[in-house]
Amino acid sequence: MQLKTQVLVLGGGPGGYTAAFRAADLGKQVTMVERFPVLGGVCLNVGCIPSKTLLHVANVLNEARDLNPAGIKFIEPEVNLEQLRDWKNKVSSQLNTGLAALAKQRNVTVVEGTGKFVSDTQAQVDTQLIEFEQVIIAVGSQPVKIPGFPNDDPRLMDSTDALNLEDIPKKLLVVGGGIIGLEMATVYHALGSKITIVEMQEQIIPGCDKDLVKPLMAKIKKDYDNIFLETKVKSIEPLTEGLKVTFEGKAAPESDVFDKVLVAVGRRPNGHLIDAGKAGVNVDERGFIPVDKQQRTNVKHIFAIGDVVGNPMLAHKATHEGKVAAEVIAGMATEWQALTIPSVAYTDPEIAWMGLTENDAKAQGIDYEKAAFPWAASGRSLSIGRKEGVTKLLCDKKTGRILGAGIVGTNAGELIAEAVLALEMGATVEDLALTVHAHPTLAETLGLSAEMIEGTITDLYIKKR
Ligand code: NAD
Repeated sequence: MQLKTQVLVLGGGPGGYTAAFRAADLGKQVTMVERFPVLGGVCLNVGCIPSKTLLHVANVLNEARDLNPAGIKFIEPEVNLEQLRDWKNKVSSQLNTGLAALAKQRNVTVVEGTGKFVSDTQAQVDTQLIEFEQVIIAVGSQPVKIPGFPNDDPRLMDSTDALNLEDIPKKLLVVGGGIIGLEMATVYHALGSKITIVEMQEQIIPGCDKDLVKPLMAKIKKDYDNIFLETKVKSIEPLTEGLKVTFEGKAAPESDVFDKVLVAVGRRPNGHLIDAGKAGVNVDERGFIPVDKQQRTNVKHIFAIGDVVGNPMLAHKATHEGKVAAEVIAGMATEWQALTIPSVAYTDPEIAWMGLTENDAKAQGIDYEKAAFPWAASGRSLSIGRKEGVTKLLCDKKTGRILGAGIVGTNAGELIAEAVLALEMGATVEDLALTVHAHPTLAETLGLSAEMIEGTITDLYIKKR
């Protein structure tokens, strides 16, 4: 069987389906290949969406417990895991159905299976040959497996297994203090697991400024059994009573036994899985496919987007790249121009940051000014019982132009959007300080941190230098 298409999209995740839909809207005839029987990729099926669904549950459980000091006591919650799993799956399947409808409305042909290149004009999906004029590679990434670990033991989980919620282990070890590890630790802790985290670097979420990580670290230090920094797992031995883990590091014990272990040490791109060489497309040794600002690979009519083209591996980067590729294919002069891609860790408290981090500013020798507004001075923050937050703003010392922002605290992921827009619009701290923010809101803290730099703040007393 042979199928002919103008634009072939390999992968139906957020990058792939956005590219496919945009290309179809621009008049192209599009075929999208997806290995799962449903659209949405890792993000919708085994990533962002199911994890956020479970994190919502975790937040409600934690908030209910946190009301004790206010004189409100709920009875201990009963967790019906099967029902919780169904509820989580239902959220994803609603979105799956929506995407299938969107594809149909646009006459995008969806082919189920794993696509590989046969040449620079043909791809194969099982027995079906697809001939294309142009192609967008959006094949994503997969969790890194550590060789030598008992990877076939069901007690050793990756993020997909952890989201499956087979059970609630009494004692869970999370290897990797990055975003996935910390988000899943939040979920399992709220459901009753005792958590240990082992992170090889000297801080959790190593890409983020230390002062933003501090409030999260302080909270989980109290909540979790152990957080071992600058520590590695040397070996994992499957025993009947659990997984015996041997550590190598400063403060860690030599070994301990856990009911389950989640390995979340990063993701690797799927560039080597598609026979890209048969189409003449360069793939580097790690599996990334290099592209230019128009998402074009070294082959003129072949484009690539999302996790497979490089970090950060984030759905919102992939969707924007998908639009760029589709528009270039349709003859538009589009190129990637976004000034920043925000990052959000949906932990408790959440951490969000965008633009220049302070670490980057220092490393690049940039002359910046900074303010960090403590949420302990925010009425809104105190009223929700969470005062550990901080809103940090960085600006250019000479021009006052906003360079970066970081927020740690409840809803940081939502709040960062204002800073992203400010950066994109070339706003200065004066613009932010003079923007009227509703009171009392957590969003106010951005205006207040700008006022700190401007020297106009009245909610805090800062001695003149
Ligand atoms: P990550 O790179 O964010 O974190 C992995 C962590 O593991 C790092 O801190 C690293 O230092 C540590 N590590 C690596 N090897 C180790 C070892 N042998 N022992 C101990 N620690 C080790 O990766 P991740 O958390 O797996 O996430 C993968 C990707 O998915 C990232 O690009 C992330 O941004 C993305 N993601 C984003 C979100 C979100 O936006 N909220 C959520 C989940 C995942």
